[in-house]
Amino acid sequence: MAATRDEVIEKAARDLRIETGVDERFLPDLIFVMNELKRLGRIKDYKRVPDDQMPGKFARWDENDRLLYLSESTFRALDHPLKGSKKDRRRARFTAAHELAHVACEHEGVHDRDMRNTRRKDDTLRSQVWFDEVEANRFAAAFLVPAHLADPTKHVEDLADLFDVNDPVVTFRKPVLERMDRRARGDVPALPQSVVDLLRDAEKKGHKVISLRTEEERRRKKDKPPRK
Ligand SMILES: [Zn+2]
Repeated sequence: MAATRDEVIEKAARDLRIETGVDERFLPDLIFVMNELKRLGRIKDYKRVPDDQMPGKFARWDENDRLLYLSESTFRALDHPLKGSKKDRRRARFTAAHELAHVACEHEGVHDRDMRNTRRKDDTLRSQVWFDEVEANRFAAAFLVPAHLADPTKHVEDLADLFDVNDPVVTFRKPVLERMDRRARGDVPALPQSVVDLLRDAEKKGHKVISLRTEEERRRKKDKPPRK
């Protein structure tokens, strides 16, 4: 069975956790992880940049010189986790994990992490930079809330506290965890009877309907009534 995009990103994030020795940690220290990446030669270094020299940005990855830049306030939120607000600390953790994605996924060129999640004019939905940014967010969520430690049935607030991320990260991550969990259990979601009827009509008219076979297979295996 070919891996889905979820699973590819999950594996990349897990590999980085294993490589930096934090695979079993619920709250990996992200400065430690960056130090490990430096020690392993994956990055040349990481730099702290005064906020006023990085206006409007939390971080930057420059693939050309393999340097990772963090704004001073982002670094401080990681280094003094109990001093600032919970929201800022959690945001800084996500920012750092997002930058790790650029390293792990070998994204090319320069990537800025803007404070406001705005798309630049040249960032169309199809641009490589935009694609990389989306992928880096998915990776960051997978790195911080890994499937092997996160129970997808837990509440958003519980997962947020367990992994020290802001609630929107869990809201974004939970459906992915649920999808992978269903897939791992070979559990295909049931089609409502009305949809099955429509598909059967379409098949009678000569259309090829693969999803109907999947549903029939699911019903044979599970012997469960479909959702109405
Ligand atoms: Zn980025």
